[in-house]
Amino acid sequence: MSITRRSFFGAGSAAAALAALPKSRIAAQETQPQVKPQARPEAVLKLSSQLISDLPGRDLDEKLANLEKWGFDGVELGGDAVGREKKYADAIAKTKLAASALCGGACCANGHLVSEVVAKRAPAMEKIKRVLDTCGELHLTGAIYVPAFNGQTKLRNKEIRKILVDTLPELGEHAAKAGTRLIMEPLNRREAFFLRQVADAASIARDCHSPGIAVMGDLYHMYYEETSDLGAFISGGPYVHHVHMASAHKRVLPGQDERQFVDAFRGLKWIGYHDFCSLECGVQGDPRVEIPKSVAWLRDQWARA
Ligand code: MG
Repeated sequence: MSITRRSFFGAGSAAAALAALPKSRIAAQETQPQVKPQARPEAVLKLSSQLISDLPGRDLDEKLANLEKWGFDGVELGGDAVGREKKYADAIAKTKLAASALCGGACCANGHLVSEVVAKRAPAMEKIKRVLDTCGELHLTGAIYVPAFNGQTKLRNKEIRKILVDTLPELGEHAAKAGTRLIMEPLNRREAFFLRQVADAASIARDCHSPGIAVMGDLYHMYYEETSDLGAFISGGPYVHHVHMASAHKRVLPGQDERQFVDAFRGLKWIGYHDFCSLECGVQGDPRVEIPKSVAWLRDQWARA
């Protein structure tokens, strides 16, 4: 006799279903040890910044020296680092900073990896692999990857997701061999209709089964797309390997509007986050005053999380 949904939920059905289980299985369930939550490593706040245009300094050396002076731990590189690895490695070596991630340039390959024009996809793979080589050479946590900004593909969500799950594992393997990662970045809907939430990116990373495929959260975009910063980072869990930071409205320094980071930092503490939190923003006011103020604000938010 088959059990319908209605009869299963009828009176006495639970007892009947239990009676139908073999005794050995019931005993096994009763004696199963309780699963204890895994001990999480203690998270650390490592501050980084992109080489934003508002960053004071006449040249690269002076900009890096300022970041170091203001208490940053890392610097995020732009796409121009590809082919200029030595220039950046030498400049960073003069400081205590580490290079955090790479953002921009050829890394997203103009959305060609998920283009409706199939012939564009293979060259995009090669471009991204070249960026990953740079990231490996400079010991970066990863290359930041946006699958498609609005207007870059005519494909829809389901088709784009399938291409990613089919193709990213090869890039993940390339990244892992180079000692780095390809890091998917969700954006808000004004910039990308595909991939808007950390959990969505994490589910793609999970389906890729590759240690070289990771995700990040950008607190500017998250303000518009996530219902909970805490929930988003918990959902991203071990796949989260980079964070971008900016205020909510004018995308200026953290702390320059009412956007709070305590909930997000609680999420990062929950998952035992060890990678960088990096500025991707403009500055309202004098950067020499406002950037150190923002650093102090961030450290206070972390302490309160
Ligand atoms: Mg970003």
